Amino acid sequence: MANTNKPVEHIKLVGVIGAGHMGSGIAQVASLAGYNVLLTDTSKEKTEEALATINGNMARQVSREVITDKQKQDALDRIEISADLDKHKEADLVLEAVTEDEDLKQAIYTEICPILKPETILCSNTSTISITRLAAKTDRPNKFIGMHFMNPVPVMELVELIRGIATDDETYQTSKAFVRSLNKYTAVSEDFPAFIVHRIMIPMINEAIYTLYEGVGTVEAIDTAMTYGAHHPMGPLQLADFIGLDTCLGIMQKLYEGLADPKYRPCPLLVKYVEAGWTGQKAGRGFYDYRDGTPVPTR
Ligand code: NAD
Repeated sequence: MANTNKPVEHIKLVGVIGAGHMGSGIAQVASLAGYNVLLTDTSKEKTEEALATINGNMARQVSREVITDKQKQDALDRIEISADLDKHKEADLVLEAVTEDEDLKQAIYTEICPILKPETILCSNTSTISITRLAAKTDRPNKFIGMHFMNPVPVMELVELIRGIATDDETYQTSKAFVRSLNKYTAVSEDFPAFIVHRIMIPMINEAIYTLYEGVGTVEAIDTAMTYGAHHPMGPLQLADFIGLDTCLGIMQKLYEGLADPKYRPCPLLVKYVEAGWTGQKAGRGFYDYRDGTPVPTR
């Protein structure tokens, strides 16, 4: 769907820290929405790789006539890449999308906050870390918000907005307008483990694994049941392999620890697959074996 939304007027420069999967996707959608984007990572090479990925993704969008070649060129011209965090001093909204490691994220905020403009909004794309706790260690808990993009960013239409205990209304409203300007929907989540999408989806996957573990159904029966019986685009075990079984286990553990409710206990079979290194598509094997091209159930 063509984006007819205008960029937020007072956001002239969007800073993105971390040029991995998510950061490069965010840079792509923000530049296509008309924003100037500064994309930084630990080395120039990493940002160059990210820019090449963005270029390739946009070329596919051109060939599918989602965007024109001119839109692609203009968007690429709006992206600056650098390994220098100091350059974020001009940014009006900074999105942190570095590796999911609380100490690393805190260290980046400690480095960057003194150079940011006082009014700059700082967002984290974290999937599992408390926004309130991250915000509390910055100089701007009121201007700090969770902006949780889904993977792959250019395809998924939702961004969860997570208000920390101190996030002010202006920050929330600007963040919401920013997400809308990217042609995406927002859903507001309170700051509790796994927010909304994962809180619902990952326990469903865990339950599908229990269904397999207890012998209620085979891999094939469970995925067929949910695909055709509940109209899900793919079965829960296929989805688990796609997400990564280690990621699914990590989220179940956060829910179990964070909410202290036994209903979130990870299925022992999920633990076993992760311990075997059978973590899904990326490992070549999970609930399906992908090594010969056609996925074959492993149970
Ligand atoms: P990734 O590993 O693809 O990218 C992380 C990037 O951070 C890497 O390029 C790395 O070099 C960079 N980085 C590490 N230390 C840095 C530093 N000191 N300064 C600058 N950059 C640094 O990870 P990802 O999948 O893009 O995840 C990033 C964040 O997004 C995480 O918080 C993750 O939880 C969250 N997230 C991921 C997904 C997903 O499905 N992958 C979905 C939603 C949210």
